[in-house]
Formats: sequence, structure tokens, C-alpha cells
Amino acid sequence: MNEVRAKKFLGQHFLTDEGIARRIVDSLSPTAQHVLEIGPGMGVLTKYLIGKENIDFHVVEIDRESVVWLHEHYEGLHVIEGDFLKMDLNALFHDTCAIIGNFPYNISSQILFKVFEQRNRVTEVVGMFQKEVAERVAAGPGSKTYGILSVLLSAFYNIEYLFTVPEHVFNPPPKVKSAVIRLTRNEVTALECDEKLFVQTVKAGFNQRRKTLRNALRQLGLPLDAVPDVLLAKRAEQLSVEEFVTITKAIESCQ
Ligand code: SAH
Repeated sequence: MNEVRAKKFLGQHFLTDEGIARRIVDSLSPTAQHVLEIGPGMGVLTKYLIGKENIDFHVVEIDRESVVWLHEHYEGLHVIEGDFLKMDLNALFHDTCAIIGNFPYNISSQILFKVFEQRNRVTEVVGMFQKEVAERVAAGPGSKTYGILSVLLSAFYNIEYLFTVPEHVFNPPPKVKSAVIRLTRNEVTALECDEKLFVQTVKAGFNQRRKTLRNALRQLGLPLDAVPDVLLAKRAEQLSVEEFVTITKAIESCQ
């Protein structure tokens, strides 16, 4: 494979370090039964996943050339040719599933929003992202990188930053460092508030993250009278998931 072959617009940066590939695959919990790999490319992770016993394993790859390559090299591999973002996970899996991949970085956030939408189907995610995205997802309140995805995902997942990966282990090398994170579904089945309103509140809060919640939430056009003043005086990046739930409940109570 040469650099010319890599298609930048598909976020193609092929991992060339077998040790790191194995480390990513080994980060998947041994109990994962139904597994989907996003963007297998030339199969650097795929070959270790195929070797696992008793897993129902599928890959989804958008690039025709990679799909042909995978069929040629891994007989019997379940390859779905298409866009992960358009895929109906419920049609593929009737049970819960794990997602793994060295993800296409151009759609990192969209992959994570889809995981959030599918939180009752997806019990685990092990994946490589740009380091900055990985840090953002794993950040807690009070951190500058804490944002919408950190709050939404940590409401339903335990998030671990596993390790950092340098640029030179990819072909072609990306401009930024990468990192592997793991999301493991927690015990929360439902939040104690309207979940749609929770998402709206979190988004509105962070869309104007320098403003106090009182000002940032005005755009929702909803009554804030029942929300405790101490919370309205804070900024979104200072609030925990529980505090966002409290705010959402208070807004609901006035509707
Ligand atoms: N896992 C491989 C390739 C990583 S590059 C490795 O580590 O070497 C990202 C891969 O995702 C590419 O193969 C690219 O074609 C694929 N891809 C990009 N967008 C996609 C999408 N929307 N759905 C599925 N695969 C996608």
C-alpha cells in the first residue's frame, strides 16, 4: 500500500504498528459477543478480531477498494459495504453489541452521537480518535475541554482514556496525535428527567459556554424559575451530569 492509495476524504490513515493494533483489540472486554468494526481498511485490527473465539463479528467499510481487498484476504468475513452513519444497528443486531475501530477522524463526533442515540444497543466502544476528541470525551467538569459529548456520553457510559498514539505509526501520518478510549455502558437505564430536554439543555449550555447558564439557556425559551440560582450562575463547563439532570427536572416542573 502506498500513500497515494489512501483517500484523505475518507479519513484514511492506516495503522502500521501491530503492537498497537493488538493493544486496541485486547482492550475489548472478553465477554463482547456481537462486535462491529467501523472502517477496517486493510484489516490491521480485523485480523486479530477474526481470531477471537465465539464472537459474531461484522465490519462496515465505505470504501469499495478496501471492501474488495477484505473479501480477497479474509474469506467468510461479514463485510457490510456502506456508511456506518446510515446503518441501522437494530437490523444487524438483535442483542447488544460492541463497537471497535480506528475510526475515520472526519466523522468522529457523528459516530459518538450515534452511539449516544443507540445507547441501549451499544454496550461498549473501543476506539481510536484524534487525541483532542478523545480528551474531550473523557473530560470531566471544570476542564476546558469538557463539552456536549462528555456530558451526554458520561451520563450512560464509563469513559476511560487508555493511551496516546503518535503520528508516525500511520500511513499516511495524520497531522495530530491520536488516542484510544473505551466507553463501557453504566447501570443507568433512564435519566430521572425528560431525556430530550436534557440533551437540549446540555447543547444550549455549551453552545454559549462562556455565558452563565441563565443567559445560555434563555435561547430555549423555557421557564427557568424553578432552577436553583446557584446552578444558573454557573457555566456549562462547571456542571456535572447530575446537575444538568437537576436543571432539566426544574425546567420540566414549570412546563
Ligand atoms: N482500521 C484501519 C483503517 C483506518 S482509516 C486501520 O487502522 O488501518 C478509517 C477507515 O474508515 C478507512 O478505511 C475508511 O475508508 C473508512 N470509513 C470512512 N468513512 C466511513 C464510514 N462513514 N463508514 C464506514 N467506514 C468508513
